[in-house]
Amino acid sequence: MSKSDKNGFTTGNLHSDRRDKPEHGVLHKAIHTSVAYSYEDARDLAKVFQGKMPGYNYGRQQNPTVNALQSRITRMEQGLTSTAFATGMAAIGSTMFALLRAGDHVISSAFLFGNTNSLFNTFRNFGIEVSFVDTTSVENVRAALQDNTRLVFTETIANPVTQVADLDAIGVLCQQRSLIYVVDNTMTSPWLFRPKTVNATFVVNSLTKYIGGHGNALGGMLTDTGLYDWTQFPNILELYKQGDPALWGTTQVRKKGLRDFGATLGPEAAHHLAVGSETLPMRMDRASDNAQKLAEFCEAHHNIKRVFFPGLSSHPQHERAKRLFKKPGAIMSIELADGVDCFDFLNKLSCVVTSSNLGDTRTLAIPVAHTIFYEMGAERRASMGIGDNLIRLSVGIEDIDDLLADFAYALA
Ligand SMILES: *Cc1c(COP(=O)(O)O)cnc(C)c1O
Repeated sequence: MSKSDKNGFTTGNLHSDRRDKPEHGVLHKAIHTSVAYSYEDARDLAKVFQGKMPGYNYGRQQNPTVNALQSRITRMEQGLTSTAFATGMAAIGSTMFALLRAGDHVISSAFLFGNTNSLFNTFRNFGIEVSFVDTTSVENVRAALQDNTRLVFTETIANPVTQVADLDAIGVLCQQRSLIYVVDNTMTSPWLFRPKTVNATFVVNSLTKYIGGHGNALGGMLTDTGLYDWTQFPNILELYKQGDPALWGTTQVRKKGLRDFGATLGPEAAHHLAVGSETLPMRMDRASDNAQKLAEFCEAHHNIKRVFFPGLSSHPQHERAKRLFKKPGAIMSIELADGVDCFDFLNKLSCVVTSSNLGDTRTLAIPVAHTIFYEMGAERRASMGIGDNLIRLSVGIEDIDDLLADFAYALA
């Protein structure tokens, strides 16, 4: 173990680029825009293409600025290796596309980011069966198992009703059945939770959210924890069964997913995301603490019917969230009392922005049934507990007194 590996989460991340032999002693990895790479000996280019020598061949597959970001996230997740994508959706879609085949079965949480839900329904058109189950209990996952089940997918804290998945018990089940276990860690980020501790095969992070943290760049990351035994997985192509079996899955994702599908993260975005990531722990702690205070305020307010936040003792998975996560995160939803118009409420807020993003430094609010979950239809929304007066909040790092005053005014 090198000296730098022993550094804490923040120190290690701050000095990550600098310690990787940077050009001119820079502290940030440069934004490398070259798409092509040259080699003095043409044989070296061939070796790089054949995977016999490390190196760069084409910008769709690798870029030094993006690689530096991959190292940062691998370190945060304590994983084996990471692969960056243009967005979080690209990370999820490319991974499934690379590893699944027609006739396979996937078990997914029924409480999903809306676009992930839409994507999984599209995979059904290609002969992949998907069962949507309530992952707050491992028993629902167990009951959905089939002989052709290959992969289990869940988020840590679901959006917008903040259900906390039975993460550790599902990890045990996946290990027993040699199933790929994909955990979308976007809501918690590696600062609050490391899915590797519950036996995840892959960790997905939408870098667009807390890791980038400022709403100024899109990106997604897939981290391979190194825990899965890829010799047990039937869909690895013979071509990629070379070298260390721990890397077979990631190799197939990089070739069939990143290279062939081509949703590559650009170097400029990688730079923004890397700089943003340096303050992840401070932002996440502050936003979580703000969310806790705001949730307690809202729970006591007569114009709010219900508050969904894992940090409240009224939350059904409060104890689980306390056990698994450093803090309960900064996503909460409020259901306004009957008769309170959600649009009027939103229009009265002044330092809260009505917006669909989350994980920004600013507090964002969105009426979910009318926007991000609109396309899903009323029936599916009802099954997910999403009412017409439900507002999702992504609590930011503002001064808490300003947030409380804003809510007090808009709710009066
Ligand atoms: C936003 C989000 C995604 C998708 O990430 P993008 O970077 O917007 O593509 C996936 N999962 C969760 C939980 C998200 O919040």
